[in-house]
Amino acid sequence: MQERIVLNKLPQELVNQIAAGEVIERPASVVKELIDNSIDANAKKVQIKIVNGGMDLIEVSDDGIGIPKENIGNVFDAHTTSKISSLEDLNNLLTMGFRGEALSTIVAVSKVKLISKYMQEEIANEIFFKDSGEKILRSAAREGGTVVTVENIFGNIPARRKFLKSALTEYKKILEILIPYFLVYPNIHFTLIKDSKIVYDLPAIQNSKPNSVEKERLNTLLKEEYVSRMLKVFFDGGGTRISGFVAHPSDHQKKASNQYIFVNRRPIKDMGISRAVYQGMSRYIPHGEKVSFVLLLDIKPDLVDVNVHPRKEEVRFLNPFRVYSAVEESVRKAVENATSYRIENRDFGVSTIPQSKVYAPRDISFGKSRGSSVQESLLFSKEALSQSSYESNTQIQNFSTQDVTPSSIRNIFQIFNKYIVIEFDEEVLWIVDQHAAAERITFEKLKKNQKVNLELQKLLVPFEIEMSEIEIIGMEELREFFTKIGFEYEIQDNKVYISSAPVEFIKTDFKRFFEEIFSLSDDIRNISKEILRLEEDIYATMACHGSVRSGQLLRREEMIDIYKKLIDCENPYSCPHGRPAVWKMKLSEIDMNFERTY
Ligand code: ADP
Ligand code: MG
Repeated sequence: MQERIVLNKLPQELVNQIAAGEVIERPASVVKELIDNSIDANAKKVQIKIVNGGMDLIEVSDDGIGIPKENIGNVFDAHTTSKISSLEDLNNLLTMGFRGEALSTIVAVSKVKLISKYMQEEIANEIFFKDSGEKILRSAAREGGTVVTVENIFGNIPARRKFLKSALTEYKKILEILIPYFLVYPNIHFTLIKDSKIVYDLPAIQNSKPNSVEKERLNTLLKEEYVSRMLKVFFDGGGTRISGFVAHPSDHQKKASNQYIFVNRRPIKDMGISRAVYQGMSRYIPHGEKVSFVLLLDIKPDLVDVNVHPRKEEVRFLNPFRVYSAVEESVRKAVENATSYRIENRDFGVSTIPQSKVYAPRDISFGKSRGSSVQESLLFSKEALSQSSYESNTQIQNFSTQDVTPSSIRNIFQIFNKYIVIEFDEEVLWIVDQHAAAERITFEKLKKNQKVNLELQKLLVPFEIEMSEIEIIGMEELREFFTKIGFEYEIQDNKVYISSAPVEFIKTDFKRFFEEIFSLSDDIRNISKEILRLEEDIYATMACHGSVRSGQLLRREEMIDIYKKLIDCENPYSCPHGRPAVWKMKLSEIDMNFERTY
């Protein structure tokens, strides 16, 4: 016989615990809610104490306005808030909290005590719950502000407690939550005490405003040498104001680390904004490379919905495209200002930036050289070049695609093992960057995407690469794509065995090669979905590996081969990353440079 189905009305306590799981995922979520409350209370000093990754104790103490006696008994009730009273308020929100659910959920999953003294009252009050559930409310001693003590989080929900990670991991999650707050509230004195040791003591920065970034704090918090070179970003228009800092293009990196986005003071995550930043720099950094940034977006509250995520980690823009293009524009402006500023300085002989960092007209290798050729190929574009006063007379014409391609080579030779110099009967001289040219050739070949064009090579012994779990997923996801261009492989456990590869790639460091391809994706698990968007970037990365390198000695036939293949390219004038491949000079221009008129 079938059992009778019983509809249970859940006891309120259980309902609260279920709801709590959404807001309070782990100790870090408690820290976030408490800090939000202190900020909403206008605190100028906030002290955070963490014991055992927050699992044993989280205590946040502030000097804010405090809670009036008449309210203190209700702050732990669900949906009790002093911040909004109507739906209309929700649309004009500038406080961090608004749902009135933080304290009530924290209380549902841990042991909580709150002491507060309201600014306009003489005596502080405390509230806590006994194990029996009985609420105790009584007067207490405290000079001002509020302190909330949260102990034994999820102690009453063992299933949940079990899912917490080690104390160290939980502490790191807490730091991830805290650092953004430390960054955008330079006006607040924050102290973080971990297991009785002071980890951060950040006095308020004089005359600083909330919702702004100060380099001083940035320096202390990011602890990166590149902070000093970060560029100031600013934009104001169309209901959107953007401020903050973005890394100098020469400080690009493989990983998307130290990226902070705030929308109306709220730390959020948004891939679209990160992409817009890269886009704003795309002419200056290699494809797929990332940069660090701290961006503060202030958007009219009715143009952004903050109520879309249980922990408020995401927002929804009414018009995302507008926001993204504002970000892109602000970053582009910051970079362009910085580069032209330097060129001006150079003209006056003043150098404030180490020479290796200077973006100068012919300084193609500006930025750190990290040995990766993707990174080496720092980008130049016609526009970027045309900004410099240096080349205004000749170089722009040199990029013109309209002029006739010379055909009869009089002389061809290599200089510095990296450039091919070609003298043509047509009174033209070309200097070809051998790596950029070879990259362009391979890139276009790959783009045409016919494996028939690429000679395949079966490897005698399959080449074995150990990969991370996530990279293995990427290899599975991209199998069709890689097969199409000539890579064949088997996957076994955490190893990939390459059995065939296009002949161009035979000498490639396969491990690095795949790593670089995967680093183009925000999420390898979805890389096959992104393939349309990433296809060209992938080819560019591949081309970089499967091509003649800089520093490689070339035979005459090889030089001629590069030249011939290059002029057959759709765009022979730059490498796939946008760096020029050819520098052309007419004899008349050379003459002009020597003021030779005959
Ligand atoms: P919300 O922040 O969404 O209003 P909470 O549950 O976080 O909801 O807090 C409930 C109420 O308790 C707040 O609206 C506020 O009035 C009061 N409160 C909580 N923490 C503080 C604090 N540190 N200082 C002053 N008031 C506080
Ligand atoms: Mg709150």
